[in-house]
Amino acid sequence: MTRTRFAPSPTGQLHIGGLRTALFAYIWAKKNHGQFLVRIEDTDKTREVEGATDALLDSLELFGIHPDESIRAGGDYGPYIQSERLPLYREHLEKLIEQGDAYYCFTTEEELEAHKKKAEEAGIMIPFRSPYRDITIDEAKAKIAAGEKYVVRMKIPKGETITFFDGLKGKISVPSADIDDQVLLKTDGFPTYHLAMAVDDHLMKITHVLRGDEWLPSTPKHVLLYRMFGWEAPEFYHLSVILGADRKKLSKRNGDTHVSQFLEKWYLKEALLNYIALIGWNSKTTQEIFSLPELIEAFSLEGLQIANGIFDPEKLKWMNSKYIAAMPADELMKTLSDYLKQYNPDFYENTFITHDEVFNRAVITEVQKRCETLADFPALSECFYQEPEVDTALLLSEKMGVTSLEQAKEALQFGLDIIKSFTSTPSRDQLKDAIIPKIAEAGKKNGQILWPLRVALTGKEFSPGAFEMTEILGLEKAIVRIEKVIAKIQ
Ligand code: GLU
Repeated sequence: MTRTRFAPSPTGQLHIGGLRTALFAYIWAKKNHGQFLVRIEDTDKTREVEGATDALLDSLELFGIHPDESIRAGGDYGPYIQSERLPLYREHLEKLIEQGDAYYCFTTEEELEAHKKKAEEAGIMIPFRSPYRDITIDEAKAKIAAGEKYVVRMKIPKGETITFFDGLKGKISVPSADIDDQVLLKTDGFPTYHLAMAVDDHLMKITHVLRGDEWLPSTPKHVLLYRMFGWEAPEFYHLSVILGADRKKLSKRNGDTHVSQFLEKWYLKEALLNYIALIGWNSKTTQEIFSLPELIEAFSLEGLQIANGIFDPEKLKWMNSKYIAAMPADELMKTLSDYLKQYNPDFYENTFITHDEVFNRAVITEVQKRCETLADFPALSECFYQEPEVDTALLLSEKMGVTSLEQAKEALQFGLDIIKSFTSTPSRDQLKDAIIPKIAEAGKKNGQILWPLRVALTGKEFSPGAFEMTEILGLEKAIVRIEKVIAKIQ
């Protein structure tokens, strides 16, 4: 049974890289009809941020990454938060101490500093080997009883090569001489990440560990821990790094990093999820738009890429625009009003809900293909909601063959007469069929009539056309707008 996990530390909001790790782990479990769990790794109390656990879980839910097991969903392998599993770590640590694979260490801060300095001066990595490596358990217990502060360290074997496989990078070998005697239990009585993670992944029956590349250097220690416990290690997949446009690791210095920052910029969660899946994973097809079920279908661990991926905001925008363009009207209306309510309450209250739903729906359907994000909606739809203050100079266009205001006025009157011949609002096609042949009959070019007409209806250099505007605005409003501009020219 495939079991994967996402193991965030509650130190802040969900990062783009974290979302991708969670996504791949989730997809792999789902693809194999297995389980995906979320484990909160809160053993570093100094870095914990209040509310972060809830925010992380909420974010995953929002993106449709629903854990089968978590502090919220429950499960048979809990608790799913490390601070509630301390007795388990203690128990396993005792075992390591008893079998001589870990030891109590009483090294002082000064001694550790001196070691660090020595390595810095030498300009090489000198692995830390404590003078207490061979202390007996009884000696150590006597020191502890006397109130001495201690940590528990891993006893890294001497003169060995630690070998393991990474699903992306292949066989990796590290001499044990390059590995520190890693702290497993800190002075505050909490386990380090390394101990807690190894114990938990085993007890929670994790089969595949998908995690950030930054954990690759720690993996030899994890592999050794598994060996010391006599357990089989899970398969490891260290995901490539996500780089910013400047090819440096994505961070707040070169762009947005938190998932929430993208949502605040009105990116659709489906588009964001789709986009990040393509960073570091190659679908090996030309398909780029994937729903979550399609990702589950198409995903393979072999498609994970070793090369670091670049987060390109322009590509994300493009993808977002594709999602908006393809959204069915009902969903679009719902999503748009949710976004407006949350991120532009002024427009929502004073413009959007003061118009009827049929009108709003017609407007968004008209402009949806031009929205890169839904944040573009208020600007793109302005010509529908507000009567424009038309600058008559815009009525002229050499390219369209409109060279004088008099000519523009005649064109407007020409269009107006045809529009007025309708007793109710014409559809765009009806209006087109009425106007185009008449323009030809009058020996004019389409642009000579349609350009001034469109500008009179919208006041904009770029906007939907005169037929669309009339259909959506309705006969009355369209007539008022055109008449006002004609009056302005006298
Ligand atoms: N708690 C670690 C982190 O937040 C998880 C690393 C892992 O997945 O093993 O990066």
